[in-house]
Amino acid sequence: MPIMTDPILIIGAGPTGLTAALELSRFGIPVRLIDQALHVATTSRAIGVQARTLELLQQRGLAQRLIELGNPCLGARIYGNGK
Ligand SMILES: Cc1cc2nc3c(=O)[nH]c(=O)nc-3n(C[C@H](O)[C@H](O)[C@H](O)COP(=O)(O)OP(=O)(O)OC[C@H]3O[C@@H](n4cnc5c(N)ncnc54)[C@H](O)[C@@H]3O)c2cc1C
Repeated sequence: MPIMTDPILIIGAGPTGLTAALELSRFGIPVRLIDQALHVATTSRAIGVQARTLELLQQRGLAQRLIELGNPCLGARIYGNGK
């Protein structure tokens, strides 16, 4: 049941703001999301999505769609100090 209140203003439509909007909306709390950027970003800021993030998205019914849109990574190597 929607909660009768003025919309919560969320400034910034990055992952933090979008997650806040999603969580508030799940409880029926209206939100207004604004961002100073005039356009969506065209460069990647999330080459990888962590397993825990997927778990949280799964609880919200979003993980499967994200996996379908992504490229599964079965292994990785991290280099540091020239090694
Ligand atoms: C090149 C790059 C690669 C990355 N790769 C990964 C990765 O593979 N995996 C991963 O988990 N993370 C990755 N990250 C980190 C990830 O992008 C950040 O942790 C994440 O974007 C942080 O989210 P946020 O919502 O806190 O901030 P942001 O994504 O910075 O979003 C903040 C938003 O607020 C808006 N804003 C700011 N100030 C105002 C204002 N005064 N008024 C209105 N709007 C405002 C901005 O325009 C922006 O849209 C990467 C980052 C970069 C730069």
